[in-house]
Amino acid sequence: MKTVGIYIETQEGQVKKTSLELATLARRAGRDSIGILFEDDAAEAAKMLGLYGVKRVFHITGDAVADYNPDVFARHMDDVIRDQGIEDFLAAFSDRGKDLMPRLAARLKAPLAVDCLDIDLDSSEAVQAIYSGKVNARFRLSGDVRLYAIRPNTVTAESGATGAAEVITVPASVSDTRVDVREVVRNVSERVDLTEAQIVVSGGYGMGSAESFRILEDLADVLDAAVGASRRAVDEGLAPYPMQVGQTGKVVNPELYVACGISGAIQHLAGMKSAKTIVAVNKDAEAPILKKAHYGIVGDLFEVVPLLTEEFRKAIHK
Ligand code: FAD
Repeated sequence: MKTVGIYIETQEGQVKKTSLELATLARRAGRDSIGILFEDDAAEAAKMLGLYGVKRVFHITGDAVADYNPDVFARHMDDVIRDQGIEDFLAAFSDRGKDLMPRLAARLKAPLAVDCLDIDLDSSEAVQAIYSGKVNARFRLSGDVRLYAIRPNTVTAESGATGAAEVITVPASVSDTRVDVREVVRNVSERVDLTEAQIVVSGGYGMGSAESFRILEDLADVLDAAVGASRRAVDEGLAPYPMQVGQTGKVVNPELYVACGISGAIQHLAGMKSAKTIVAVNKDAEAPILKKAHYGIVGDLFEVVPLLTEEFRKAIHK
């Protein structure tokens, strides 16, 4: 049976949901999988990964990988992939996945499909949204090794296997690198990562000011959601760029997307239209977002959002 390789991401020692989604994808395809993990407590991660069907975890450890360095990480991943004869390798289309996978593809001279909405490991096909999400294209990858970066939340992570994955410790061996990491600025937000969130509450230019985003934060607190923004909100200084959703921002794929004071420009839709349920709050009944939304609320967001927060609070905490 062909084994699938997976780049395992962790956060504060916990395996990220996106990595469990990839393990689920491999298991559903009837494949064994092995993980490549840097940093952290490999034994804890291996326990969790075993439940999702991962058989072995290559834990690269040492000073050279203590901090993220894309060049060093990609070189170690390249070594494991070649040594283990891995033909299909998966990573989440996360910030890390976006950074690492093209480097890995260049090193391995392998094809890479990014932002995949679906993949078929048997036929080496990947479905990808192109032209700002207007078209879904199906690609076939050819080559001895094939790389896929999968959009978070496209697969529901399901445990069901038993036993921990075997941990194979690999001392980091790369010392020379062409990338010099000067500073690592960690995201200090307590909130769930925007690209991985099950619920996203976003604000647009209609929020009027940066302070007004407080009412979205309140709603997000109740829903355990991430907070996003439109580009105009970012350009006008209402929200920082890491919150931008859209063609030139982040692509999100949540169960629920609540768009507040966002008109629904095509470039914004490119980043959120795959959300399973879209709710839009807009005072203009003609706003294009209302044509895309499953539920539209025509009204002033400064009245509607606090009401939603209150009703969700009652419903969730009763
Ligand atoms: P507006 O279009 O100004 O809409 C504001 C909305 O708020 C209106 O619909 C209004 O009715 C509503 N509103 C105002 N006050 C209230 C209120 N009190 N209550 C309820 N509703 C209210 N945009 C992105 O979002 N992401 C991208 O990644 C992105 N990339 C781009 C890339 C390119 C190359 C280009 C050309 C554009 C890009 N844009 C992107 C910009 C995009 O075209 C739009 O300009 C932008 O999305 C508009 O943001 P908005 O909806 O917040 O603002």
